[in-house]
Amino acid sequence: MNIYPLPPSALKGEGMTSQRARDRLVASLKEGGIRDARVIQVIRDLPRHHFIDQALHPRAYENTALPIGHGQTISQPWVVARMTEALLEFGVPQKVLEIGTGSGYQAAVLAALVPQVYTVERIEELLRQARRRFRQLGLNNLRTKHDDGKLGWADEAPFDAIILTAAGDAIPSQLLNQLSPTGVVVAPVGSPSSQTLIRMRGDGQGDFIQEELGAVSFVPLLGGIG
Ligand code: SAH
Repeated sequence: MNIYPLPPSALKGEGMTSQRARDRLVASLKEGGIRDARVIQVIRDLPRHHFIDQALHPRAYENTALPIGHGQTISQPWVVARMTEALLEFGVPQKVLEIGTGSGYQAAVLAALVPQVYTVERIEELLRQARRRFRQLGLNNLRTKHDDGKLGWADEAPFDAIILTAAGDAIPSQLLNQLSPTGVVVAPVGSPSSQTLIRMRGDGQGDFIQEELGAVSFVPLLGGIG
């Protein structure tokens, strides 16, 4: 299986000077049980510092969530890797919907691995910054929308995979309705203090196979637009 080639613009510049920090990050992902070589390669190549404020650049390759403003965070790299791996395990989805664009980092990781990424964010300013980052990196297989992601993206459904990067008390049924019959959803589900990463897979007959992939910690899935 081929990784979508990242455009050279995604790999150049300041990022190269951080190669040792990136190598350390990759080592810690592997120690943490990340196995998918495609995912590891993208996390090694994609400049995470490009998705955060300059003041935080020295911490860009730490395996931690970091603030991105508006009370939101760029997810921890291990979590991004785990969710991406879980999404790709049964084959590469053609069309993926992400709810919660935030910094744009998870969407960019996906854009390097699958043909088409659709991402929805409720805070307009975050979305504006993410769009600029995608443009600067030359990522052109991403489409973005300012909306309440609980509604999904009906005009573009069905999706082969849906990923939520904010936690609700359940996976919104409108999203499940926009999943292809054998599609995969990966989402944190639970209360602010206790969340579990859930994977649901359509069995092709209208039912879902549900698995728990471990404890996680995400910002809440909110309603409406910001
Ligand atoms: N994937 C992001 C994670 C950002 S944090 C990254 O890689 O940086 C989660 C994001 O989900 C926040 O930006 C938050 O504003 C957004 N969010 C929360 N509820 C939402 C909703 N109902 N619709 C769309 N976005 C939502």
